[in-house]
Parts: sequence; structure tokens; C-alpha cells
Amino acid sequence: MTPEKILSELIKINTANPPGNETTAARYLAGLLQQASIDCEIIEPAAGRGSLLARLGSGSKKLLYMSHLDVVPAGDGWDFEPFSGEIKDGMVYGRGAIDCKDLAAAGVCAALQLAKEGIPLNGELIIAATADEEQGGELGAGYLTANCPEKIQADFAINEGAPHPLSFNGKVIYFIQVGEKGTAWTNIKARGVSCHGSTPALGDNAVVKMSRAVTALADYQPEIVLVPELFSLLKELARVRGLDIEPTPYNTDELLEKLNLDHAFTEMLRAMTRITISPNIIRGGIKTNIVPDSCEGELDIRILPGQNADYVLQELFQLLGAGVETALTEYQEPTFTSSQTEPYWLIAELTEELAAPNAVCLPIISTGSTDSKYLRNIGIPAYGIGHMDAGYDPDISTTMHGCNERTDIKSLYLKTRFLVELARRYLS
Ligand SMILES: [Zn+2]
Repeated sequence: MTPEKILSELIKINTANPPGNETTAARYLAGLLQQASIDCEIIEPAAGRGSLLARLGSGSKKLLYMSHLDVVPAGDGWDFEPFSGEIKDGMVYGRGAIDCKDLAAAGVCAALQLAKEGIPLNGELIIAATADEEQGGELGAGYLTANCPEKIQADFAINEGAPHPLSFNGKVIYFIQVGEKGTAWTNIKARGVSCHGSTPALGDNAVVKMSRAVTALADYQPEIVLVPELFSLLKELARVRGLDIEPTPYNTDELLEKLNLDHAFTEMLRAMTRITISPNIIRGGIKTNIVPDSCEGELDIRILPGQNADYVLQELFQLLGAGVETALTEYQEPTFTSSQTEPYWLIAELTEELAAPNAVCLPIISTGSTDSKYLRNIGIPAYGIGHMDAGYDPDISTTMHGCNERTDIKSLYLKTRFLVELARRYLS
């Protein structure tokens, strides 16, 4: 079974979440694995919301390959049928092709290949293809880590989560995701005194207060923090660019400008070096002739590893003063796995060896989150990859969660080779 065929079949099973229906995809993969006598189980906390667990080999060492089976809804504007799974001209087309049915297909294909070789593994390879990642993961990785952590406990895990490789000054940079920012969504509220709109000075306008608060948030200059992995990343990017600059919090923005990377990547890097606060919803006032006595806003706040809820509330208090009330509504800790570990070095070494002669691996932090947060929260070191063939078309990356999602087959083979070789080396 080839990885492109597995991916194509997975794409044809519509697992847009909601509603998900991942069990059908989990059963398809289990069927393939069981034919090769690989142990499988499907854990289904709610009807249709199954996650697949498969295991190969035995021993005290444990390696986990994680992916997710659900996809975001297709939406409109596609040039082809989103769930066709068509294989044509070296590509596989359809929703999930790069997020992340490709990784699921590569993981299963790797297990099949290892089983076929029949060389005994000195340890256990666990394949987890989960439900519900795109809606937060509570019915998938969240359920597994909360209810049967022993089934996925591993020395370390490979998951999705890194940006695709970047061609940069003659090098191809492969990223290994070692951390994810946390979320600290916060509601803010300004209170005032209402009165007739014809004599506004008799009241105290909450919308005006809120507009000052929003301006203060827009002008906020957050403290720049370089976690060691970000320091290494910026330093190496500077070196490859031929710049003699040692990154510090004081020159980070200047360095980002001099690196002259594409705009989206630059802004992603900027967001990896500081808290971000984005006022995204505002509600206030009820009628044109009434001075409003309350106005509410909702802030999307993302924090770095090392920052926490107290830090967020302190920053908001300094910016907004006591006149604006703040309440955290959704909080998720940032998560982090060190890059100073044997598994990280093994992943980096293997990637550089398999991907291209001019490949360089660098650690990165994500501005969003994946199922890796659940793994890290129960103590499993997790490393996110976004491996693509060195010659891939970068336009492919823009199709993630967008229209015309697709992948090239070469990238699929690189992922499969990487997973086969990592298991061989770690479990040898
Ligand atoms: Zn994903």
C-alpha cells in the first residue's frame, strides 16, 4: 500500500469537523494495519468520534506517532471536488492533504513497512490518529490523555505543528516545533453613567472609555522575550542571511526587518517573541439618543512559554487601569519541550540526512496549538514536524484550512521515510 493511495482513501472519507465522523477513517486504517497483523483499537468516546491506536513491537522504549483524522470544513471556492482524493501529476488533491491526513497516511504506511520487513523492534511504536483536533481535541487526544494515558505514554512523540520548510539563501530550513503559545482570552468591560444623548456631559460614556482602552491596547509595546529556541532560530537565520547580529530583545524587530523574509513568516516570528493582544469584538450602546453605561470587549491574547495568567492580568491592569474590568474567559497554558534532548538531535540529524544536502533543522514555537499540548501536559515530550520535499511548491502551504488543499507525493514519501527511519533508529 502506497502512502498516496492511503491518503487518497482517507480524503474520500469526509471527516469535516463538526460533525467529524472520524470512526469511518479510523476503521479504514485499522483494516490496513490488521491485515499486517498489527494490533489496533478504536476508542470512541461519542458515536462516530473514534480515534485509532495501533502498536507494533514490544519493549520498554516507546515512540508515538500522532496525527489527527478530522479536517476543517471545505468551504466554497475550490477548483476541484474537495473530497475527491484524486491522484494526478504527482499530487494528491483534497481536504486534509496537508492537515493532517498526510501525516496519518505516512504513519500508517511506515508501520506497514516496518511490519513487512519483520525486523523485531526493540520497543514499541504507537500510532495514534485522533478525532476532534480541529475543534480543540477534547474527544480525541484530550480524551485519550485524560482517560487512558497509559495507552499513549511514550518517551517522545512526533506530531504535526511545524511550518513547512523555508528556502533561504541556498539552504532549506526544516523546522521542529518544540512549543506552542497559550491562549488567555479575556473579556473587558467599561462602565459609565447613562443619560439622554442630547446632554452627553451629564453622563459618563462607556463607549468612549472603551475606545481609549482599545487605543491603549493597539499602542501596546509588549516586552520582547527570546526563549532559547527562538534565540537559536533567529541567530541561525541571521547567519544564513550573512548578517553579523547576535539576537537580543532590543534588536529583535530590527533583525526581523533585515532578515527580509516573507511577510507572513516575519509576523509569525514576531508573534513568537512576545505576548499578543488583539481586541477582536466590541459591543456597546443600545440607542442613538442614550449615552451608554456599559461597553464590553473580547480580547484574543496569546502568551509565550514562561508567561501565565497573572502576567496577562498585570499587563492589562497597567495598560487599562482600574476603570476597565477584566475577566479571563478561556485559559490554556503554553506548552514546551526542550530542544536540548537526544530525541531532538535524532530528529534533526535524520531530517538533514533524508531531506536534502543543504537542509538545516531549527527549533520553532507555534503561535497556535495542536494536540501536542495534551501530550506535553502529561509529560510526553512532543516534537512537531512540517516536513515537505525540498523542491515543494510553497503555494501548497497556503491551502491549509483554505481552498484547493493538496500535497505533492514526494513530500508524502519524505514523511514516510522519515517515520520509518526514526523508528528503526530509536527502536533498534
Ligand atoms: Zn492539523
